[in-house]
Amino acid sequence: MAISKFPQDVQAVFSVPFLDLKAINTQYKDELNSAVSRVIDSGWYIRGRELANFEQRFAEYCGTKFCVGVGSGLDALSLTLKAWRQMGLADVGDEVLVPANTYIATILAVLDAELVPVLVEPDEKTFNMCPKLAAEAITQRTKVVLPVHLYGRMANMPELSALAERAGLLLLEDAAQAHGASLCGRKAGAWGGAAAFSFYPGKNLGALGDAGAVVTDDAELARMVGMLGNYGSQEKYVNLHIGSNSRLDEIQAAMLLVKLAYIDSEAAKRTIVAKKYSEGIRHPLIELPEWLYDASHVHHLFVIRTTHRDALRTHLKNKGIQTLIHYPVPPHQQAALIQHFRHLSFPITESIHSSVLSLPMSPVMTNEQVNTVIDACNLWSPF
Ligand SMILES: *Cc1c(COP(=O)(O)O)cnc(C)c1O
Repeated sequence: MAISKFPQDVQAVFSVPFLDLKAINTQYKDELNSAVSRVIDSGWYIRGRELANFEQRFAEYCGTKFCVGVGSGLDALSLTLKAWRQMGLADVGDEVLVPANTYIATILAVLDAELVPVLVEPDEKTFNMCPKLAAEAITQRTKVVLPVHLYGRMANMPELSALAERAGLLLLEDAAQAHGASLCGRKAGAWGGAAAFSFYPGKNLGALGDAGAVVTDDAELARMVGMLGNYGSQEKYVNLHIGSNSRLDEIQAAMLLVKLAYIDSEAAKRTIVAKKYSEGIRHPLIELPEWLYDASHVHHLFVIRTTHRDALRTHLKNKGIQTLIHYPVPPHQQAALIQHFRHLSFPITESIHSSVLSLPMSPVMTNEQVNTVIDACNLWSPF
């Protein structure tokens, strides 16, 4: 079979694709089409009604006062940190605590804001930042704690926010994988001084292109993030800060408005898949993620661990099942970052990266597909 250079053509050969975005968006095709038409007919394509509407609804959804749409999740993180710098709350060289096993974007945002990322090992059971190790990593220069709700599971926010308060630190949530998750009745995004969301197409709330947002209760921060993502200006041609161009356009805002209405029902479908996997997969060499019967996990990814990952991946591939690895190389070992972390080692993170495997997970998987994955896992014999 010819392998095309486009990943979507590679995906088409799997009977159980990892994430079928076409199937997800096709569910809402009529609504998405009419939303696009509405934008075309409006004659207004940047920072108009669609964005204002989405910002209001997403802030309401998260339980925060403000939402500012930006160009991506990465920009949501870096613009927040830069805004805090402009507001005099952080200075060049100040330290930011981030999980060592996060997606690299979290760390790139810190560097982009000229701050220093300090990597904190995760709790091995939850994959999330360990509050105790975070506390130990605090120095005179620490200004921000930046937990990530990795794989859709909320970090230990009660302890991390208490820690931030005790130590006088700013708290920024990277909620790019956890739209709609909630802990103690409080949504992801409503715990810190601010939170960053990504609406990259593959996220639980995905646009049909790039998009992101910052949510916060702080009016001044919201204003500053909006300015920095709009050439540092609030009033056209009056530039108060050295900004950039990072805006959530009207078409993407209109797509997100359509999809926001279905976010909870999609999370419920993901939960059903996770529950079936958790109850169905039984294999001595497959370690399942700890199952949570509550809303604190929206199952962005279903991540198992095994010491024989390559063998399991190949076995599943031969059965038509597509898997991915989140993530194969830890950030501190990436060529781009090696200069920052050269002499450091993070054994928990390294062991996670060498053993994790993400099974297909989406709100459009059929029962049959879920059972195919369960049976294939249970029938695997690596030796
Ligand atoms: C996706 C993601 C980002 C970056 O979002 P983009 O929209 O791709 O820029 C940041 N952090 C985490 C944890 C992510 O998963």
